Amino acid sequence: MINLSELKVVEDAFFTAKLEYYKPSLHEFIEEHFLESEIYSRKTLIKLKKIIAETKEKAHDLIMRHDLEIIIKEIKKTPKDFDEKTWEGFLPEIMQEVKNLLGMDFKPRPVFFEDSFPQGLFIFEKKGASSVTIFEGQPNAGIYFLNRRVSSFFTPVLLIHEQLHSCLSQNKSKDQIYIEWFEEGLCQWYSLLIYYKLTKNKQVIDLYRLRNYIYSKVKPEYNFTRRYFEYMKVFQQLYLHGGPELIGKILVMYLSNERDKVNEFLNLDKLDFNYIPKTEIENILAKFSSFIEPEKITPLEYLILKSAKKPKTIQTLSMLISAPEEVIKKSIFRLKIKGMIVIKDKYIEVNWRKLDLLEYGLIKPVFPF
Ligand SMILES: [Zn+2]
Repeated sequence: MINLSELKVVEDAFFTAKLEYYKPSLHEFIEEHFLESEIYSRKTLIKLKKIIAETKEKAHDLIMRHDLEIIIKEIKKTPKDFDEKTWEGFLPEIMQEVKNLLGMDFKPRPVFFEDSFPQGLFIFEKKGASSVTIFEGQPNAGIYFLNRRVSSFFTPVLLIHEQLHSCLSQNKSKDQIYIEWFEEGLCQWYSLLIYYKLTKNKQVIDLYRLRNYIYSKVKPEYNFTRRYFEYMKVFQQLYLHGGPELIGKILVMYLSNERDKVNEFLNLDKLDFNYIPKTEIENILAKFSSFIEPEKITPLEYLILKSAKKPKTIQTLSMLISAPEEVIKKSIFRLKIKGMIVIKDKYIEVNWRKLDLLEYGLIKPVFPF
């Protein structure tokens, strides 16, 4: 059993929780306050409660307090440890699924959960990898997971991802060159598909998708998750063009080392959509990267909008949000310019054009970090 780090438990809860803030804007706060190096314990909850107690009456703090309280509730339901033995026990099934889907046999690689990557692989740690592979034929061959980056939700998907790599490498010839976009896209795509086949757990797939989206917004360019999100976009289009058959065809090209032919598929504008996703998981994967960006506003503007679903005066708003009238007036001016409110006599009300968006979470406050 691996005890999860404080950061991973809070982050898992953060992904699951329904929050007011635009999530990508809050992620840095989470990473700043919770540590990868610290094992989750009651201290984490105490820390969270302390942050809540220190919040002030300012708009951004009010929303923060609300969101942190929701995260605390979510943490209570979030797993704090990870049973690596269960997942190691899944290896034969994973192998069978890979065989069925890709039509290739392979020997699963041994899996290790360690406190640091084997020597010489530090750079992967820095680039945000939670796991690395040392290929067959080298000493210490196997798949290495970093204990402090283990997540109860995402580690099993990664485990499958890495086994897909082993399958590919065992079926490639020595002179074959790795094509990053194709191999990583393929491993991402099929790891989610296989995970779903084994567990029928749609929630984890949705969380994984959300995490990819958030990381693509907040992590540095070189971060793996951020890069692989782009490859998933390529795969979405390939899939909608030709479905699993096309992926199989490109895989054959890849294994025959026909580099140019594989890369030809990066010309996405040439691909029309001919394939209709059939199963639930195909549908999820086909829109993996399709997130609607909300219109982002300041916390104060957001609180005003939420309070003004029915007409309110500036005085009432000032009382409800406990902000000085002068400050409220400035925000109202900005909201007016953005077309988000209408002013009738002394009353301020959400513009009906924007009301639906507000109610469906497509207008979101941004945490001012
Ligand atoms: Zn990979």
